[in-house]
Amino acid sequence: MPVRKWRGPVAQRSDIVVIGGGIIGLAVARRLCLAGLAVTVLEQRRTGRGASWAAAGMLAPYCEFDEPDPYFILCRTGLERYAGFIETLRDETGCPIEYNATGMIYPALSDRGLARLETRYERHRREGVPVERLTVREARRLEPDLSNRIRMALRYPADHQVENRDVVTALEKSVRLHGGVVREGVAARSIVLDGRRVAGVDTTDGLWNAPKVVIAMGCRSRYIDGVSPAHRIPVRPVRGQILALRAGAVPPFRHTIFTREVYLVPRSDGRLIVGATVEEAGFRDEVTLGGVLQLFRGALELAPGLASCPLESTWSGLRPVTRDGWPVLGAMGTPGLFAASGHGRNGILLAPLTGDLMAEAILHERVPPIMRPFLPDRFYPAGTGEAKDDSNR
Ligand SMILES: Cc1cc2nc3c(=O)[nH]c(=O)nc-3n(C[C@H](O)[C@H](O)[C@H](O)COP(=O)(O)OP(=O)(O)OC[C@H]3O[C@@H](n4cnc5c(N)ncnc54)[C@H](O)[C@@H]3O)c2cc1C
Repeated sequence: MPVRKWRGPVAQRSDIVVIGGGIIGLAVARRLCLAGLAVTVLEQRRTGRGASWAAAGMLAPYCEFDEPDPYFILCRTGLERYAGFIETLRDETGCPIEYNATGMIYPALSDRGLARLETRYERHRREGVPVERLTVREARRLEPDLSNRIRMALRYPADHQVENRDVVTALEKSVRLHGGVVREGVAARSIVLDGRRVAGVDTTDGLWNAPKVVIAMGCRSRYIDGVSPAHRIPVRPVRGQILALRAGAVPPFRHTIFTREVYLVPRSDGRLIVGATVEEAGFRDEVTLGGVLQLFRGALELAPGLASCPLESTWSGLRPVTRDGWPVLGAMGTPGLFAASGHGRNGILLAPLTGDLMAEAILHERVPPIMRPFLPDRFYPAGTGEAKDDSNR
């Protein structure tokens, strides 16, 4: 690790600086503020306007269940804490936060899809996942706007969804209410060290002095100086394009409708969110004709009646994805330096739990067992303290 000692004028001092004002940085900052620390969040643009604004807000560990591995346990635990977290956040801030606990419906539209869902149903039941098998009639009774071409459906009653933009707005307010400083338009350039320890962050607005720093820069988390190339967080951007239809005064669905190709997320103001592409496009976060076409096709296949809905808006965001697809949480090799990044397609779901786990690691130097598989050192070869070559595409 190169030693980079700051020699310029001191701008500010905090107990801890969180770099990145997305849902992850804000959730971590809030927990540290609640513990009485002087916390500064540095955000290069506007808080919460990265992936956290672009997301669809599904809280869906069960619908997306694949293996009963540590990542599933993390996501399931994240969901278990969500409703309570939203209640507390509403009470603290007075902010409205839309939360929908109706569940999700996963329909099959073809013979292949039908066979896949039958297998899925049996496996999920064996693994104790809360899932119901619906006939076509049952599914269309619950959601009459579903295509009459569906062959069957699974219902996941325990999966929820939240208006993620409400959450980031409330989180920022909570951080400020609890004494945290949120600085927008300030980009972190480099971690500053004093010997081997963290001493602060060099920014476009001068030095922020702090003995502890959390890197929560989303898909840009590997791009900060002062961290040796071998120890950088191996995160890359994965683009998701998404759009909103204006479906009427109330949305056409009560449940979120989910398939492998496309999902439809109803919002209480009558919008229907149609997402999302999964693309390796580097840092290009534009909306493309091909991306929108893919979403239109998928949505119309699920619900042909949507053809008459006005298109309200389109956008895209960059998911922070690690080399192994799991988040990176906890202490990095340098004393005082922490990572909270790489949440991929589950960062909205995992934000409250990430705040709790990071607070344990930062305040008490404890690594709860559920956090252990996600430590940054899994990218380092055992025993050497050196990171593996993490040059990722
Ligand atoms: C289309 C789409 C759909 C999604 N749907 C879901 C979903 O349904 N459910 C779910 O759980 N998750 C979903 N996700 C994933 C989720 O949005 C992300 O995992 C989560 O938002 C990541 O949060 P973050 O705070 O790490 O990143 P971000 O929200 O991107 O925040 C990082 C912040 O760091 C700032 N930053 C970067 N570099 C610097 C710097 N040098 N100095 C200062 N600030 C800096 C950025 O400006 C940004 O604001 C979706 C994502 C996308 C793109």
